[in-house]
Formats: sequence, structure tokens, C-alpha cells
Amino acid sequence: MKRSFWIGIICAVCCLGSIPLSSAVQTASVGSTFSCTFLDSGDQGFFDSSSTHTWDQGQIDAALRALSTWDSLITSTPGRTLTVGLTWYDGANSSTLASAYSPYFYYQSNGPQQVSTLAESVWRDGGTRSGAGYDIYIQCNTAHLDSLYYGAALSAEYTGKYDFQSILTHEVGHTVGFLSLATQTGAFQVQSGNASAAYSTMLYTRYDSLLTNREGQSIVEKAGNGNTAFTLGETLSLADTGLTAYNPSTWQQGSSMAHIDSASDLDALMQYSLSPDTYHRTLTEGEMELMRSMGWNMVPEPCTSALALLGLAALTLRRRRC
Ligand SMILES: [Zn+2]
Repeated sequence: MKRSFWIGIICAVCCLGSIPLSSAVQTASVGSTFSCTFLDSGDQGFFDSSSTHTWDQGQIDAALRALSTWDSLITSTPGRTLTVGLTWYDGANSSTLASAYSPYFYYQSNGPQQVSTLAESVWRDGGTRSGAGYDIYIQCNTAHLDSLYYGAALSAEYTGKYDFQSILTHEVGHTVGFLSLATQTGAFQVQSGNASAAYSTMLYTRYDSLLTNREGQSIVEKAGNGNTAFTLGETLSLADTGLTAYNPSTWQQGSSMAHIDSASDLDALMQYSLSPDTYHRTLTEGEMELMRSMGWNMVPEPCTSALALLGLAALTLRRRRC
């Protein structure tokens, strides 16, 4: 049975300014990149809801490993330390394991434009802008507390559980760029309050700007020219990474477009669902390339030096044959 993630990136600026920082006791840092607050039961968390579970050490450690993975892969220098609020909610009957949110901000007050999350602005672009709440929210569903695996070791035994570290690594990915403002109708979201202005306030993400159809057309440009940007089920490529976006013929709110189609990369961290006893704890090479295409500085590909070594070896062999 597969359970799908839901990503909580819905509206842009509506939550800014209304989220008081909690006085939660459990905090931790990941280098100078992240300052984490683990919101325990009763602490004010995501939007106006209080956290419904108190973090235990195994859960905290898994979360810190997830954040450390991103910190070790990204070499862009943040303009300031990013604040991360991690919270729990009771989502009984929901197959959602966790969701993430980083507030959007607009570069301009009006007009079609690419928007960034605070995480992108501060970490990728070196900005120092601050919001009223946390830069990144991660909320986890208590309904699955007993179905999660919190260990660091890749379990050799079948536990039937979902790897918490994989889930949180995935969720952070949404806040740093794996997100889309494409809509079910084959268009892009428009700025709140200006819906009637249609394209004049069309919003899209950096990720969206890299989506092309089979003819090689940018779907953002298509939308800008007044055309339907894409159809459900259409194959959409992401730059030259070999990856395609998850675009099923039936729209799945929170999953469609903002994920990598696993058919294009079986090991993708950012595929829309996770199976038990499956570990996707880091980015694939295709996803690393996509991050670079989205403007991030990433650690060099490990295979580059390996390939160079292989080349040397081949050269040596040839020389010996001569
Ligand atoms: Zn997701």
C-alpha cells in the first residue's frame, strides 16, 4: 500500500505576520544553516494549531539527519540562519505522512512573475529578508506515529514501516524548490485578491519555469501567451535533467506537478509517495542537476572524479597494450 505525501504550500502571503514564535524547549542547530525548534504538545505550531505530540529523541535525531543531508549537499551560503519549526498534528483518516511549508514572497507587487519561498530567498539567493514566523514549517501526522521507522541504520529486516528520515528529507525538498503553482485547469495560480486580473498577476516557481512539453515549449511561456499551459497526463520535462514531473491524468491536489515522476527516476527523493521499508534519504544525480538548474550551488557530482579515474585507467590500459 502506498501512502502519498501532501505538501502544504497553498497560499502565498496570507499567513505572514500572524504566527508567534513559541517558547518551546527543544531546540537544535544544524551548522549555521538551520535553527530548529521542535514544537511539543501544546506549543503553538503551524498556523493557529497547537502541536499534538511531544518529540522524543529518536524523532528529533531523524529530523536533524534529514536537515543535515540538505546542509551537506547545498553549498550556497545563506544570508542568515534559517529557522525551522517542526510540529505534529492529528490527521486521522489521512494518508498524509507529513507536509512542509515555507512562505512565498513576491519580487514585485504586480505582474506575472516568478516567486520564491523564504528558504530559496535566504539560502539560495543569500537574502536577509525575514518573516514573522518560521522560515520552514514541517508538520507530521500523529496518525502514523506507530507506522514510522525512526532509526538511523537502514533496517535489514522487514518492519512494514515508513522511514521517517526519508519523509522529512523529502519535505524539506519542497521548501527549497520542488514546488509548483500550476493548477488543475492547466494554468498557474494568480495573485490573491487579483484573480480577475488573470495573467497580469500569474505566479510561478523557478521549478515551473523549467517545465517543457514534448515540443520543447516552456509551459510558463505558453500560459503567458494566453494558451492552456499543459493538459493533465501530458509528459513534462524538467530542464535537461532527464526527469519528468508527476502529472497524472487525474489531478491530485498537493501531489500533481510538485513531484518527480518515479517513472523517470525510480530512486527519486521527490517522488510523490513512499512505500514501507524504502529509503530515499538523499537526492539522485538527476535531482542534484535539477537543483543546479534552479540556481543552487551544490556539491560536485561524486561520479565526476570516479569517471576521471576510470578514464585514466582506460588510458593506462591502452598504453600498456601499445
Ligand atoms: Zn511531497
